[in-house]
Amino acid sequence: MIAAPAVVGLGGNVGDVQAAFRRALQSLNQADGVRVISVSSLLRTAPVGGPEQDDFLNAAALLAVELEPTDFLAVLQAIEVDAERVRAERWGPRTLDLDLLWWADTAIETTALTVPHPRLVERRFALQPLVEVAPSALASDGRRYADILLTLPSEGVEVIGGPSLVYDPTSTDNGGSESCRT
Ligand code: ATP
Ligand code: MG
Ligand code: MG
Repeated sequence: MIAAPAVVGLGGNVGDVQAAFRRALQSLNQADGVRVISVSSLLRTAPVGGPEQDDFLNAAALLAVELEPTDFLAVLQAIEVDAERVRAERWGPRTLDLDLLWWADTAIETTALTVPHPRLVERRFALQPLVEVAPSALASDGRRYADILLTLPSEGVEVIGGPSLVYDPTSTDNGGSESCRT
């Protein structure tokens, strides 16, 4: 199977989210058929939709994936469970959200999965880090996401640090957990 380039958006606003991102990316890089290619800067973002809640941290990662998209979604969901993600209120507070934003300029529509992510083009907190890791990615209508990003309002998103805050591939740090989950 040929590896497909894919972009995953990371988000969270409960607990040590930065540690959750680092651990999630380590888990992804260790998963069969998945390799982390690069990660975006770390963003602090105002919540969009849902109840009144704390600001989020967001980032995105470019991956090479040798799995079927639905199998890859299962990997993402297992890592969310590992991070003690509890699905309560829609768009409510969470330790870790891993969304498949983009998959090799392809559209995917199954009962469990819609790619590109249906709300990507209205969310600067997702689109900005996507463009950082995949500057030439194309939307289904042939436009570049980089161009769509220029049309979005700039408020609500603040860069708080570079990619090394999100993921350090040389680190053996497991994000503060007592056991290394693989
Ligand atoms: P939003 O989709 O608006 O970002 P959310 O991330 O909070 O909301 P979740 O509770 O994480 O939503 O996911 C709800 C369902 O969305 C999942 O069970 C999954 O099957 C489905 N889903 C559809 N498309 C995608 C996608 N591209 N990435 C992740 N989940 C998806
Ligand atoms: Mg989401
Ligand atoms: Mg999600």
